[in-house]
Amino acid sequence: METSSERAPLAERVEELLAQGGPLPIVAAGDPVLRRAADPFDGQLEPGLLARFVAALRLTMRAAPGVGLAAPQVGVGLRIAVIEDPAPVPEEVRRVRGRVPQPFRVLVNPSYTPVGSGRAAFFEGCLSVPGYQAVVARPTEVRLTGQDEHGRALDEVFSGWPARIVQHETDHLDGTLYLDRAEPRSLSSQQAVADRWAQPSPERAARARGVDRP
Ligand code: ZN
Repeated sequence: METSSERAPLAERVEELLAQGGPLPIVAAGDPVLRRAADPFDGQLEPGLLARFVAALRLTMRAAPGVGLAAPQVGVGLRIAVIEDPAPVPEEVRRVRGRVPQPFRVLVNPSYTPVGSGRAAFFEGCLSVPGYQAVVARPTEVRLTGQDEHGRALDEVFSGWPARIVQHETDHLDGTLYLDRAEPRSLSSQQAVADRWAQPSPERAARARGVDRP
């Protein structure tokens, strides 16, 4: 067991982060905190502080705006992430990508395993890699286990776009960025994606790059 004095530095650092108020600064790729496996959460933040930290993650995610944010992305190496996707997208995109609304959720100590062998490839981006997107093939359905912010067990199957979001955020907690799983030749600026590849699926983009769909 850790002693309370050993726990103090992390809690103090979170208090310092929160003291500034407003959205938290988002750490960009290159910072080692994004490449380390985060520590399992086991009460390092007392309940009141955890609740305030989760609220700050939600505020930061919404302000970005993004559909998920992992604690390492604000410099805190704990296995905690938040997700939320209002999915304000056209019906065709919703259908092709399975981008259905995902209510706000807190994932504590999450891990996932694929369900079935289905995979889907779509452009994906990350708040810690600003300005770019790339095509990532991922399992279309995963079983996510872990806890919620109150310590209640979480065991749920996610599919469609929410499955992509929970994989992306859980990967962050393992020190993995989406670029590690991406088709390198698909890397595109946000602007290019908006200008050229805004169709619901990336097949045309794959053909234009001279590669098969990943
Ligand atoms: Zn990310």
